[in-house]
Amino acid sequence: MKNRIALTPGDGIGPDVVAQARLALLAVSERFDLGLSFVELPLGGRAIDEVGEPLPPATLAACRASDAVLLGAVGGPKWDALAGPMRPEAGLLGLRAGLGVYANLRPARVFPELASACPLRPDLVEGGLDILIVRELTGGMYFGDRGRSPDGEEAWDTERYSRKEIRRLLERAFESARLRRGKLCVVDKANILESSRLWRETAASMAAARPAVELSFMYVDNCAMQLVANPRQFDVIATSNMFGDILSDEAAMVTGSIGMLASASLGDSGPGLYEPIHGSAPDLAGRDRANPLATILSAALLLRHSLGFEPGALAIEAAVASALADGLRCADIASRGNAAALERVVGTREMGAAVAERIRKETP
Ligand code: NAD
Repeated sequence: MKNRIALTPGDGIGPDVVAQARLALLAVSERFDLGLSFVELPLGGRAIDEVGEPLPPATLAACRASDAVLLGAVGGPKWDALAGPMRPEAGLLGLRAGLGVYANLRPARVFPELASACPLRPDLVEGGLDILIVRELTGGMYFGDRGRSPDGEEAWDTERYSRKEIRRLLERAFESARLRRGKLCVVDKANILESSRLWRETAASMAAARPAVELSFMYVDNCAMQLVANPRQFDVIATSNMFGDILSDEAAMVTGSIGMLASASLGDSGPGLYEPIHGSAPDLAGRDRANPLATILSAALLLRHSLGFEPGALAIEAAVASALADGLRCADIASRGNAAALERVVGTREMGAAVAERIRKETP
C-alpha cells in the first residue's frame, strides 16, 4: 500500500495544525497497521528563511517522490514586502503546478453539532449540510492570455478551456457524485460564454455512460443565490477555476467555521495535495489557539483519495464528529449563549489529542 507522506507545515499556524494532523494519521497507521512514514519539508516563508526561496527544488522533488502531500499554510507579515516570485504564496502555487494537480475538491459540511455557527436560518441547514465543490484549478481566466494595451487604458484576461481539460475535471466530479448522493450540478454562464457552452456540451456527452449520476446545470449567478437560499439541494458542484474560487468561499462561509474546512487537489497520477482552506493566521501562531480540525479532516481526504484507504478516512471523520459530540470546541467554533454550558473550549493540542485518542479507540 502507498504509505509515504510529505508534510509541508509552512508558516504561522501551519506547523501547529499539521502536527495534530500527523498525530491523527499516526493513530490511523497504528490502528490499521499501515506503516505510514513522514518526511517534513520547508515551504513558503520558512523555506525563504532557511534556503532562500519559497519552493526549494529539494522540497518539490521530495513531494513528487511521496504518495501524498499534507500542507499547512504559507505567508505572514514577515514576508509581505517581498516581490511576487519570492513571496511565500509563490511556493504554494509552484507546488500545485509542480504536482500537476488540476482538480480541487472542497467539501463544505456543517456538522449538526455546529449548526449554530452557520449564518443561515436554522431550518435551511437542519439535519446537517454536505456539499462538495469540484473546481478546475489550472485553466481558465487565471491562466489565459492577459495583457494591457500600449497606452495602458485597456486590459484583458481570457477564459479558455479545452474539451480535454473539462473532461478530466468532470470525470472526478461524476465519480465523486457516484460515491456520494448521486447528484452533479455543473455551474457555468452558458447563456453568455462560449467556453461555458463547451462545459455543458462535454458534461452532457458524458452523462449517458454514467446513469448512476443525475446531471443538472445552473448559471453561476443563480448558484450564488441558491447556495444561501436552499443549500441542501446540492450534492456535488463542478465548475471552472474562477467560478469555483468564488463559490467555494461562499460555500465555506455558509458552514460558518473556516477552521473546519478541508481540501484536496488532485491530478491524474502522482501525489495529491491536501490542505485546510484557511491561511496561516499569524495572530494565532504558536499560541495553541488554532483549530486543527480542517487539517485533520484534510488528512482524512488524503487517506481516501491518495492512499485509497477509506476505513482510515472514516475513522478520522468519526473521531472528529465524536469529539464535537462530546462538547469539545476550539475557540473559533465555540457557542455563545446557552449552548456554551454543554461545551468545553480546548486548545490546538488538546483537540488533536482528543481526536487521535478516539481514532485509536472507536470503530466508525
Ligand atoms: P486566514 O485564513 O489566515 O485568517 C482569517 C481569519 O480566520 C483570522 O481571524 C484567523 O485568526 C482565523 N483563522 C484562520 N484559520 C483558523 C483556524 N485554524 N482556527 C481558528 N481561527 C482561524 O486569512 P488571512 O488573515 O487573510 O491571511 C493570513 C496569512 O495567510 C496571509 O499571509 C495570507 O497570504 C496567508 N494565506 C495563506 C493561504 C494558504 O497558505 N493556502 C490561504 C489564505 C491566506
